[in-house]
Amino acid sequence: MCPHCQFSTRNSSHLTRHLRVHSGAKPYSCPYCSYTCNILENLRKHVISSKIHPGEFLYGCKMEGCNFKSNYAKDLKAHLVKCHKEDPTDAASYVSGLYQPAQDTITADAPIIQVKSRRR
Ligand SMILES: [Zn+2]
Ligand SMILES: [Zn+2]
Ligand SMILES: [Zn+2]
Repeated sequence: MCPHCQFSTRNSSHLTRHLRVHSGAKPYSCPYCSYTCNILENLRKHVISSKIHPGEFLYGCKMEGCNFKSNYAKDLKAHLVKCHKEDPTDAASYVSGLYQPAQDTITADAPIIQVKSRRR
């Protein structure tokens, strides 16, 4: 339940995302310019838009001598597993960590403490 409006969800990550509407936090930043946004999907659209960053991609392989690029996390993950023999679990956590909201100060994931009613 959002403390600022009527929004309500059982999914705490949805609530964290929603809370950015009120806080104005924009934790995702473009690697090519100063553009920031609060939803990864918007950053993807921003980078893919050929008018803004022609030929640039959201994800790039950091392995030496490799210039694989993609706009989709799952493509980079598949590439790491297939071409660099990465462990699928390691590749998944690496890729998902690339665009983690860094300066997100909201802690909606904090456990909700249930106050038990005292009975005697
Ligand atoms: Zn709200
Ligand atoms: Zn940009
Ligand atoms: Zn590669």
